[in-house]
Amino acid sequence: MKQIVWFRRDLRIEDNAILANSSGEVFPIFIFDPNILSQLPKNDKRITFIYKSVLNLKSKLQSIGLDLAIFFDKPKNVFETLKKDFNEVLCSCDYDSYAIKRDKETEQIIPMKRFYDSYLLSPNDGLKSDGKPYKVFTPFYKNLSIVWQSEKIEEYQTNTNLTLFQYDYKTIPTLEQLGFNESKLPEFLEKSPQNLLEDFISKITSYQTDRDYFYKNGTSNLATHLRFGTISPRQIFNQVAKLDGGEFFIRELFWREFYAYILYHFPKSENENFNDKDVKWENDPIKYQAWCEGTTGLPIIDAAMQHLINTGLMPNRLRMVVASFLTKNLLCDWRLGEKYFASKLLDFDASSNIGSWQWAASTGADSVPYFRVFNPYLQSAKFDKDALFIKQNLSTYKNKNPKEIHKENPYAIVDIKNSSKMAIKMFQEVK
Ligand SMILES: Cc1cc2nc3c(=O)[nH]c(=O)nc-3n(C[C@H](O)[C@H](O)[C@H](O)COP(=O)(O)OP(=O)(O)OC[C@H]3O[C@@H](n4cnc5c(N)ncnc54)[C@H](O)[C@@H]3O)c2cc1C
Repeated sequence: MKQIVWFRRDLRIEDNAILANSSGEVFPIFIFDPNILSQLPKNDKRITFIYKSVLNLKSKLQSIGLDLAIFFDKPKNVFETLKKDFNEVLCSCDYDSYAIKRDKETEQIIPMKRFYDSYLLSPNDGLKSDGKPYKVFTPFYKNLSIVWQSEKIEEYQTNTNLTLFQYDYKTIPTLEQLGFNESKLPEFLEKSPQNLLEDFISKITSYQTDRDYFYKNGTSNLATHLRFGTISPRQIFNQVAKLDGGEFFIRELFWREFYAYILYHFPKSENENFNDKDVKWENDPIKYQAWCEGTTGLPIIDAAMQHLINTGLMPNRLRMVVASFLTKNLLCDWRLGEKYFASKLLDFDASSNIGSWQWAASTGADSVPYFRVFNPYLQSAKFDKDALFIKQNLSTYKNKNPKEIHKENPYAIVDIKNSSKMAIKMFQEVK
């Protein structure tokens, strides 16, 4: 039996389903897919992160007597070439529409064996008694208490009896050959995910209180690693679940599970309002552009968007604030914001991004009620009292009194109170 072990969003050797379930002679591969890469700008930070992670994976595989062949071609072409030498491909499941299409095409060429490895659950875990999926988070989560109350979730053990298929594919494409420049990554991504997790564990008791303060580094920063599988959710769960303060964090991890489950069971929610409401968006291109570029005149919105442009990051509460602002105050369709975040976020993950955007726009599964609109000025006064985050990201405010910064700006692109009222009225009339 000869198997291709196809790494995609599981770039690790520990607790890895495909390495644990393969046997005999194996051929580990990673494919830089031009179908995806051609859509991205030259300076996309994520490609630098993936590139480094793939090289790191290659050296880890070498340390256990294996290796990684790195292709830069359409998956279809790669498998057409390899199919004569192999019986099957092992890979982990991916739920977004491109991945589903790609895997259907691959299956026509060579048999595939897929494993649920990027999440704690398979999407068919945690169904209601009638076999249908939950649409609301809390009952979904409660129903899974047997999982989140457990001491440990079993991790995969790598099969140590694997032998490497001898191959000719030795060349490693450079970042430049892939069409990208090396980007500067946030400092925390220089650390290994395990070190990052250990740093976080040392402050986990303050997580619940600190996570909303924009200028505090109160969260785990693990989302990018989770996205590309450089650490598994089981490894995180097993080290955190039973700690003081751990349960609140695990609940957040289960939001990630919930959104993946929703996208799997309701694939149309990738492009359509989950609740089927016919919302009358205005989609003013000038307002949308000001939001994207961080030039709305609302300090906290502009600081958050500039931060996103410069770093590929944005704290969770700010994601909620800017998403509420775009959809409710500017009346722009959540799909515009979702697409923009998808192009910029280092931790972009289709299911979490789509689910969270639909949540903010009050169109999604278990979303914020339409009459709850964040007031950006009150949010910054509460969570960035001394305007530290704003000043760090917008030099124009450097010498301004924080109290002035948190006051409504009469020259801003939109008046918060009036636009919130109009949004609520519009949502009330939605069919
Ligand atoms: C509009 C909007 C878009 C978002 N887009 C994404 C996205 O593309 N990718 C992404 O991973 N997260 C997304 N989130 C969720 C959340 O903002 C990030 O997961 C979090 O900020 C990442 O930082 P962290 O790893 O330090 O999180 P922590 O607070 O340390 O949380 C730990 C982990 O739990 C998960 N998590 C936490 N909060 C959420 C949440 N609300 N929904 C889903 N998972 C969560 C993440 O995997 C995260 O790494 C989005 C939220 C909003 C409001």
